[in-house]
Amino acid sequence: MSQPLRHLLSIGDLGRAGIERILDRALSFAEVSGREIKKVPALRGRTVVNLFYESSTRTSSSFELAAKRLSADVVSIRASGSSVDKGESLRDTVETLSAYDPAAIVIRSPHVGAASLVAGWTEASVVNAGDGKHEHPTQALLDVFTLRQRIGPLEGRSIWIVGDVLHSRVARSNILAFQAMGARVTLAGPPTLLPRGIEQLGVEVTPQLDALADADVVYVLRMQQERMEAAYIPTLREYAQRYQINPGRLRPGQLVMHPGPVNRGVELSADVIDSAVSLIGEQVKAGVAVRMAVLYELLVGSPRLAAVA
Ligand code: ASP
Repeated sequence: MSQPLRHLLSIGDLGRAGIERILDRALSFAEVSGREIKKVPALRGRTVVNLFYESSTRTSSSFELAAKRLSADVVSIRASGSSVDKGESLRDTVETLSAYDPAAIVIRSPHVGAASLVAGWTEASVVNAGDGKHEHPTQALLDVFTLRQRIGPLEGRSIWIVGDVLHSRVARSNILAFQAMGARVTLAGPPTLLPRGIEQLGVEVTPQLDALADADVVYVLRMQQERMEAAYIPTLREYAQRYQINPGRLRPGQLVMHPGPVNRGVELSADVIDSAVSLIGEQVKAGVAVRMAVLYELLVGSPRLAAVA
């Protein structure tokens, strides 16, 4: 077995073998999620803290369910309604929560690098649940899981990531994960929303959708208006005209993914979201099993615990 993992801050922390190990375990946790009693005792007596400084529906609910299905005690803190509102610094908050001796801290923050800072301040394992526009590794894992379930190995597959790549932590983590699994990745979108120099990651980059038929999978990104300090596109309407993924732009056999939340009618047309080519519902479902597998990997697979067990 390769080096045990203490934190999950970036997809780069896992090689292909690490990704596969987590996804194989997620498959057995998916089976647990299908049972009437959806619980296993793996983390009984241990505490998981979810610390969300940015809005979230899918990620926060699925981390909470994942920890509960592993029988952990769970404390979920959102910026609004906590002392974070009163200006308590991230470091103070983490030190306060560390008094509960958590086994894991799951953190989402609007700031790049927040999860790795937290990892330096606590004994707990830290999971990056999204740090600004940097990374969102568990999203990438659940996306690879969903695709493996639907189309098998990603080796040699073509995946197009379309839209606001510039502000997307999902794009960054997914490029790394898809490539690690042997897929070819193409980025498409308005030139203003494609980061300069991103070709260095070994991706194809295009401002046009003309060759979209090449894609086996079209991965659509949300326009991240909350992260845009300037006007990157003339109007959303014009963006939709040029880049919206709708039935007219897809060929039979292609699959469509989106990390959510979707701006219906902007990056994706409503009829595609609700059609059989959309994997969006499967992505959400995969979130719980994959996050169970991540917590298990960090908390049960670690050498500290192996010594205690
Ligand atoms: N939910 C994803 C994220 O937190 C994608 C998005 O918000 O567009 O990054």
